Amino acid sequence: MKYQNYQSETDYSNYLICSQNSKPNKFVYQQIEFSQESFHPFLGLCAVDNKKNVAKTMQALQEHGQLCTRMGAFKPRTSPYEFQGEGAKCLSYVFELAGKYGIKIIAMEVLNGEQIDFINKALEQAGNPTGVMLQIGTRNAQNFDLLHKVGSQTEYPVLYKRGFGATVAETINGAEYIAKAGNQKIIICLRGVKSHLADPHRNLADFAQVALLKRITNLPIGIDPSHAVGANILDQNNISDIMHAAASGTIAGANLILTDIHPTPAQALVDKKQAIHINQIGWLLEDLQITRAAYLARVNLAKNINQ
Ligand code: PEP
Ligand code: MN
Repeated sequence: MKYQNYQSETDYSNYLICSQNSKPNKFVYQQIEFSQESFHPFLGLCAVDNKKNVAKTMQALQEHGQLCTRMGAFKPRTSPYEFQGEGAKCLSYVFELAGKYGIKIIAMEVLNGEQIDFINKALEQAGNPTGVMLQIGTRNAQNFDLLHKVGSQTEYPVLYKRGFGATVAETINGAEYIAKAGNQKIIICLRGVKSHLADPHRNLADFAQVALLKRITNLPIGIDPSHAVGANILDQNNISDIMHAAASGTIAGANLILTDIHPTPAQALVDKKQAIHINQIGWLLEDLQITRAAYLARVNLAKNINQ
């Protein structure tokens, strides 16, 4: 009844674990719950550059009551001549600072299994002061060996990014690979798809599919407005296109908002054009709360009308 439009869309019967027809997927990690009802901003550094900036960012997040962040240590770059991330050597200070500033979960991309081992070791050596959500980047969305690796451990949840040219079915199958390997702590993250039609944005935001994915799958669905839009372009009200994109996904029910921020965006070593200044964290969070509240009001309205 509730999902009566299902069959007409396509045949989703191959999604044995991640389907809406399977049991609801709620999980708790580091005492934080993730589900299709939850809402968590993950603001942080696209790439860790130095200890000072990690400290400044985490301190600012703590001042705004944030428990989650993103911190890229291993960066997949289009050009081999660009900064590839600080790598394993930054993990000890990132984890130690997370403990100091009360950060409970860090979303961090991994490109291979060895990097999961580095994270394991560094967390252990630091005395497990924080948690990690393993990010699968858009370029690895169909790296099935890697999907199997993050799926065959159950300690860390997985933030699975949509491939930049992947269909909805391919995206859910990617999540299904992870689940089938044994780990059902998965969040799918939309981050825009590659199209020249997006220009001057970096990718074409696909956030109208938040509701679609929440209907087909049982997974929490996130959005990454920073990598979708790719530039902190301001409108006539000084509102960034990134905030507008974040709003569009949030008002449609997104469960996780991954956004690049930096203490000095102009000096960021990766994706500096899209980093929002840490002084604007308060504004960004308040703006998100407006659209989150609007989403919840829309759900109530629909409930009343359909009673
Ligand atoms: C990122 O989030 O840092 C990133 C590289 O994103 P994507 O894989 O979506 O490009
Ligand atoms: Mn980036």
